[in-house]
Amino acid sequence: MTVEGVIFNVQRFNVHDGKGIRTIVFFKGCPLRCRWCSNPESQKHQPELGVNPGLCLGAKVCGRCIKVCPNGSLKEVDQAVIFDRGKCVGCFLCAEACPSGARFRYGEKMSVEQARRKVEEDGVFYQRSGGGLTISGGEALAQPAFALALLKEAKKRHIDTALETSGACDFEILKEVSVHLDSIFYDLKHFDDAKHREFTGLGNQAIIENLHRLAGIYSKKITVRIPVIPDFNDAPSALRRLGDLAPKAGNVAAEYLPYHRAGEVKYNFLGREYRYKNIVPDNDKFDYLISQLKDHGGSTSVV
Ligand code: SF4
Ligand code: SF4
Repeated sequence: MTVEGVIFNVQRFNVHDGKGIRTIVFFKGCPLRCRWCSNPESQKHQPELGVNPGLCLGAKVCGRCIKVCPNGSLKEVDQAVIFDRGKCVGCFLCAEACPSGARFRYGEKMSVEQARRKVEEDGVFYQRSGGGLTISGGEALAQPAFALALLKEAKKRHIDTALETSGACDFEILKEVSVHLDSIFYDLKHFDDAKHREFTGLGNQAIIENLHRLAGIYSKKITVRIPVIPDFNDAPSALRRLGDLAPKAGNVAAEYLPYHRAGEVKYNFLGREYRYKNIVPDNDKFDYLISQLKDHGGSTSVV
């Protein structure tokens, strides 16, 4: 049986998420709803409609989307296209008809074979740089059959494999995929269960437990990634307590990532509210916080 996944991006030539030059396959769907999420298009499992009005040619010049919409979600007002998202059924006919890219889809179904071929296009760069495939999301392990099949295909071809995970998954899935992984990036967000739940939609207990169980069975590199998020965990004490949750093992290292708002425009394209819209990144504060953690053995990385 063909295993299919829903993928929202395949990013080539990435140098942040694993060794060497990497191809990142971004899986759609995530059990968390982090308020600061920079990939809001990753959260829902199904493909979604994006709309960038800045690219629209206007209803008078074009108007194709209005003509094809079977649901009356679009109408012309003063030559502009007005969209009622509440009436949209997500058929994507308007995206197919749109000549300018103003209407488009986030997420495509892809077979393992299609994904593998895309990844293999960069084989020469992997060989030269020691790079490979990273699966990410969303939460890649929310599509376990696809994740497992793609990793197995990569390993058959001797491609280095990495996983970026929120850890919010069934441990048995994590255990099964870990056999086919050369490195794992594992997010930790807050030490306090209630705060974690308030800002991400889920508590942290299973995530922490999964990390410790993983460290007990996995001997390759685990990088614990800690995003430093304003109004959430950006205090030395909170970050220290979070760092202390990482298992004390030689193959586990911590890495702190600064908050950024590169995903803001995508909230507009999806018609969703960005709850961090008034929170501006503060690089000086990030540097200060990291200086306070020096004795904690973490490193910083901008991803
Ligand atoms: S996705 Fe379909 S229902 Fe929604 S606006 Fe486009 S054509 Fe209309
Ligand atoms: S099809 Fe695209 S370019 Fe044409 S009116 Fe609709 S959104 Fe604008």
